[in-house]
Amino acid sequence: MSNRFQTKQIQDLDAQHHLHPFSDHQSLRAGQNVRVIVKGEGPYVIDSEGHRILDGMAGLWTTNIGYGNKELAQAAYDQMVELPFYNTFFKTTHPPVVALSRKLAEIAPAHINQVFFGSSGSESNDTAIRLIRHYWALKGEPKRRIIISRKNAYHGSTIAAGSMGGMSHVHQHSYPVYEGFRHVMDPYWYGDSFPGETPEAFGLRAARAIDEEILRCGPENVAAFAGEPVQGAGGVKIAPSTYWPEVQRIVDKYGILLLADEVITGFGRVGTWFASEFYGIRPNLITFAKAATSGYIPLSGVLVDDKIVEALMSTDDDFNHGYTFSGHPVACAVALKNLEIMERDRLVPKVKETTGPALAKLFARFKDHPLVGEVRTVGMLGAIELVADKKTRKRFDDPGRVGLICRDHFFREGFIMRAVYDTMVCAPPLTWTDAQFEEAGAVIQKALDQTLADVSGELAA
Ligand SMILES: *Cc1c(COP(=O)(O)O)cnc(C)c1O
Repeated sequence: MSNRFQTKQIQDLDAQHHLHPFSDHQSLRAGQNVRVIVKGEGPYVIDSEGHRILDGMAGLWTTNIGYGNKELAQAAYDQMVELPFYNTFFKTTHPPVVALSRKLAEIAPAHINQVFFGSSGSESNDTAIRLIRHYWALKGEPKRRIIISRKNAYHGSTIAAGSMGGMSHVHQHSYPVYEGFRHVMDPYWYGDSFPGETPEAFGLRAARAIDEEILRCGPENVAAFAGEPVQGAGGVKIAPSTYWPEVQRIVDKYGILLLADEVITGFGRVGTWFASEFYGIRPNLITFAKAATSGYIPLSGVLVDDKIVEALMSTDDDFNHGYTFSGHPVACAVALKNLEIMERDRLVPKVKETTGPALAKLFARFKDHPLVGEVRTVGMLGAIELVADKKTRKRFDDPGRVGLICRDHFFREGFIMRAVYDTMVCAPPLTWTDAQFEEAGAVIQKALDQTLADVSGELAA
């Protein structure tokens, strides 16, 4: 059933009035037709032309329980009727924010028992930056302000979170980038290792870049190290096994704070509630957002460990920071229901037992494809690297061009993967069953073959 007229009308109005995030506005305005998504159903989204598309990106790393869940809708409805909004400033609280805080303390690592809420990952990283600097001021070391992060990190798009992130195209627009952030190499073995360097040796080298940067800054000036346990928007970069233990050792050696940005990896993505548990690290702060409500409504937060909370309690001065929607009752009620569903349906252990291994197996099928340099997965996160030369790992000219060709083939064939330059990344809902893995496998094969046909002339002989 075609809806062409309505689709065109929506596209035109969109071009006239809607400024999209992270987009080239010239080509959007020039009528490069945007896809109109009108409905979500379990693992699928449906566009205005009636196409059912399997969503391999869980919206944007968010819809861990899939689309169209009526229990979440009911939880939101009930809370809206009961108490749609009240603030948590001036010595007030409400039952949903208390219940969710308690629940998060239960699933967070043992040394973490408090949470500060926001509505987006960017906001929570801003909160974390403030907490880190405030902590050192309270400890009598106000000079400790530098936060070391990594190249290609994504921590959000507010000016502070964007500055902490390591994406040069984000920095370009922050006039100027905030000072006090340093960026070291990210643990990207496939792209950055020396010829013959093992992943283990590379992991140690990448971690030691943090130590070197601390020495360059002067250890007395360094406040914290911040990193995503698995770099997401930077291309699903999965650190070698040696990396995180060495990072923890370095952080401990200098006594600086560790911020784990779990906006993607939180809530079961790698098979534990938080990836910090998976990698055996002990962060002082964990930021979360995206999948906390499976994306049904905005909610984010910073989980704060006992050491920082003790410092906050050592003074009767206010911590002068907060958001109107911190601990929004409807968002909290939806998050609680989301976590309840994840527990009831065992979605987190399933990532370890069935869905994660199924994704690994699915991707492994394509490692010998002529276009594919590497496949990698951890839990329900995966990446496929497209290269011009499998042997030398040589990339295509004009990075991102082939990724977009491939992404468009995926879309046309009814499957969504995102292109990070020429790396195809995937983060499906945790609810996928054999049927979805099979469907995805058929489309990936087709889309890779179609992409290969488009660029075969550029491949190494
Ligand atoms: C998406 C993301 C953010 C930013 O979250 P927003 O809700 O878009 O502000 C921060 N960190 C990571 C790791 C993310 O993936």
